[in-house]
Amino acid sequence: MQKKVSRIAVLTSGGDSPGMNAAVRAVVRTGLYNGLEVYGVMRGYQGLIEDDLFKMESRSVANIIQRGGTILKTARCKEFYTPEGRKKGYDILAKRGIDGLVVIGGDGSFKGALALSKEYNIPCVGLAGTIDKDIVGTDFTIGFDTAVNTAIEAIDKIRDTADAHDRLFIVEVMGRDAGYIALHSGIATGAESILIPERKTDIEEVINSLVEKERRKKLVNIIVVAEGDEFGGANEVAKAVRARMPQIDARVCILGHIQRGGSPSAIDRLIASRMGYHAVESLLEGRHNVFVGIMNNRMNYVPLENIGKKKGTISEEWMKIVKILAS
Ligand code: ADP
Repeated sequence: MQKKVSRIAVLTSGGDSPGMNAAVRAVVRTGLYNGLEVYGVMRGYQGLIEDDLFKMESRSVANIIQRGGTILKTARCKEFYTPEGRKKGYDILAKRGIDGLVVIGGDGSFKGALALSKEYNIPCVGLAGTIDKDIVGTDFTIGFDTAVNTAIEAIDKIRDTADAHDRLFIVEVMGRDAGYIALHSGIATGAESILIPERKTDIEEVINSLVEKERRKKLVNIIVVAEGDEFGGANEVAKAVRARMPQIDARVCILGHIQRGGSPSAIDRLIASRMGYHAVESLLEGRHNVFVGIMNNRMNYVPLENIGKKKGTISEEWMKIVKILAS
């Protein structure tokens, strides 16, 4: 029979995302509600191997649901890639009698949890906290919606000044491997072109479309490009445009880390609360070594063994919509 979980720990790891605090709050309060002792681990796996843990009470997570970042801090931990590093982590958990671990992070953090659970049979449950929404098995990741809304707010402002000067703006948003932030923010702001890593960028086509729009006296243009676009990001696109259309006033704006911060959106607070609750339920019910996703509005428990990055899953239909609506 499976041992009943009685003392759990929660950590945030890898890239931070808005809504991680809401998830920590949900884990802590659901754990306490079920009579568990709950420990917070500072700075992800780095804090774990350094025994930087503290006991959390309901008040430890008061007044954080609306705050971006993570009160537990986050880090990248080289040592955890090694069996020796993970042994240190396990020894700390064993010493403290912790028999369940909730990991809030991206697919890298999940790989760490998978390795730990395999080597030491410690039950782990993951919550997808990443602004990139690039994890297979969930329609939502904590932080994505907020990041998109931040990008939209910024691009709306850029469009105002672009309009005042009849300028072309090339706006770079986050997304090293995934174009979801670019796609969603670009559609929502009426961008003329959206360049994403999932599609080969045909720069000639982008420029030809600008030439054609100039002919029609459409002078205000916004191109949204994901940082990981294979053509090379906003600066490269601007260079190519200027070379062919020197008459165009093309400006670059790289949004950068503002997309990671800020108060989480309603959706991110809701999914973080729901996923956090179900992470603890999973540990209690013996559904271990999974991450908690949401698919078609139902909880989806994906074995950590099967974690993978979404690749090329942006549909042709979306790309067609972009083209038609930007004409
Ligand atoms: P994210 O979780 O946002 O994808 P990273 O890929 O940087 O971010 O992973 C966060 C941390 O998880 C790493 O610094 C490392 O400590 C741990 N980790 C990532 N991949 C592995 C792995 N294959 N084995 C063990 N630990 C890993």
